[in-house]
Amino acid sequence: MFSIDIKVEPVETSEHIEFDVEAFLDSIPRPPVKTEPKCPRCLVDMTFGVIRHDDGSEFEYFRCPMKRYNTKCYVTSSKENLAEYLKAVEEQTHPVYAQIAPEKFKCQCDLSMILAMSKSEKNPGRLYLKCPKRSCKLFQWINKLPTGLAFKLLMTQDYL
Ligand SMILES: [Zn+2]
Ligand SMILES: [Zn+2]
Repeated sequence: MFSIDIKVEPVETSEHIEFDVEAFLDSIPRPPVKTEPKCPRCLVDMTFGVIRHDDGSEFEYFRCPMKRYNTKCYVTSSKENLAEYLKAVEEQTHPVYAQIAPEKFKCQCDLSMILAMSKSEKNPGRLYLKCPKRSCKLFQWINKLPTGLAFKLLMTQDYL
């Protein structure tokens, strides 16, 4: 028979259990910080959506969720073009549109107008208000005072 002599060394807490709080916090995996794009007009987070077409293709977009009297804010962009679009909204919007009540932005079909970006050769990147279904003739550059149908819809009280 033999006996084992176990010697317990006193632990020097100040030296051995030195806990680096910052290093520990850095080591914890965290979800990436989500920064939703904001509508330049309403200053609220835009919402992401996907439209699935019959042919299987998908269209990813961001839209401002602001609604007033059943009229949605016109700020709407494809996902891939969003940064360029939001910059254009700030740069191009004529001050008059900030003065018009949000519920006035309805087209002749009584649908919320969409602010779209032109891809034409003549006016690349230029923004215009349009009918969301292209059913009526609404067309208005956002950097110009409303004319024609847009004038009637936006600037007069008793139209429709
Ligand atoms: Zn908005
Ligand atoms: Zn319309």
